[in-house]
Amino acid sequence: MDKCSILNKNLPLLDEIKALKEVFWLNNNYHRFDDVAESLPLSHEDVLDAEERLKRFAPFIKRIFPETKDGIIESSISSVENMKIRMEKDFNKKIYGRLILKRDDSLPIAGSIKARGGIYEVLKHAETLAMDNGKLSINDDYSVLAEDKFKDFFSQYTIQVGSTGNLGLSIGIMSAKIGFNVKVHMSKDAKQWKKDLLRSKGVEVVEYSSDYSKAVEEGRKLSMDNPTSYFIDDENSKDLFLGYSVAGSRVKKQLNDMNIVIDENHPLFVYLPCGVGGGPGGVAYGLKLVFKDNVHCFFAEPTHSPAMLLGLMTGLHDKISVGDIGLDNKTEADGLAVGRPSSFVGFMMDKLLSGEFTIDDNRLYKFLVNLVGEEDIYLEPSALAGFLGPILISNEKGEEYLKKQNLLDKKDNITHMCWATGGSLVPEDIMEEYYRKGRYF
Ligand SMILES: *Cc1c(COP(=O)(O)O)cnc(C)c1O
Repeated sequence: MDKCSILNKNLPLLDEIKALKEVFWLNNNYHRFDDVAESLPLSHEDVLDAEERLKRFAPFIKRIFPETKDGIIESSISSVENMKIRMEKDFNKKIYGRLILKRDDSLPIAGSIKARGGIYEVLKHAETLAMDNGKLSINDDYSVLAEDKFKDFFSQYTIQVGSTGNLGLSIGIMSAKIGFNVKVHMSKDAKQWKKDLLRSKGVEVVEYSSDYSKAVEEGRKLSMDNPTSYFIDDENSKDLFLGYSVAGSRVKKQLNDMNIVIDENHPLFVYLPCGVGGGPGGVAYGLKLVFKDNVHCFFAEPTHSPAMLLGLMTGLHDKISVGDIGLDNKTEADGLAVGRPSSFVGFMMDKLLSGEFTIDDNRLYKFLVNLVGEEDIYLEPSALAGFLGPILISNEKGEEYLKKQNLLDKKDNITHMCWATGGSLVPEDIMEEYYRKGRYF
């Protein structure tokens, strides 16, 4: 079916999305993992390969970013029971099971989930260049890459990327440290402090007065004209996706260490803020590989930018943008200000995602203030989008999902995990502004 006939069909949910209402969508196309896995363009082997690559790079990362300690870029998981109690009061709803928070806001180097995919792809590119030029072999100690002769070598090459901010930070900081020339194409949503921070690290920032899709398109074009330039393509990159997917096995180990059991009687529900889709999609795929049908993944998007939701529910993926239904793609959640989703991620998630919901910007701020008050955790607005998830699971639609999955009598055993996608690099004065603003809601 073409775009017009789909959009003219009587889809009640679409009307609500157009009216900027918060919606909760359950994916009717959700399948068992084992029935889907083989038909996907990526496999468990690909994720294991990415894991191995990151291990090879650990001695190098440890040398250039000692704050990573062992050279592995990973975040902790916090229990946020006070926040849970607060939410139960505010929404007058019981949240079944426990509430935990994955702290990608405090990932080293980039302070956001982008430290997973972005850094992985830069490292993989550096490895490929060094190996192709006979300067590195797979059994070497990769810490040699920090030496000046490698910096000189990498300075012949350029890396470019289009970003709303955080991907630019992650790729910019890592690329500059390795020695690459790096050019970040920033959409109009990108915050000034992110541009300033990048420039202070020697990164070239190109500013656009248009949105994210345009910044990506321009960056891609400019990169193609330059044979020594490599473009990191947030809309299509499998490497980015794999960098995110490595989170799956690490979360499994962390939950295990916390004595949190995940099995068919103790399901894991994960709520992931979504922009173009690579971050949440990669993480969800990684989680599916290790927990299969015992993990239930939901994406969260701003009411003004429900790009992935539109792509999935209409099946049109990147053939539709939020502008096509009259939305403005204007949101304070700069990391999620994306109007057109990745079709690659849409295809990967089509049968694996349990559902999606949208959230009003004002509510992001309210969650921001409450999380500070209850847990002393400071996140950027985008990173709070997942918090509506545990409440929605207690609503009628959520119960419908639980029933379908035969989980109604197991709901007290749910572990709800909100994915905090960014925050630790936000300058103090900006964070204070967020906080003041949130006090009004
Ligand atoms: C980029 C980003 C996301 C979403 O990742 P996508 O790959 O764009 O879907 C979520 N939260 C924050 C803070 C981000 O920077």
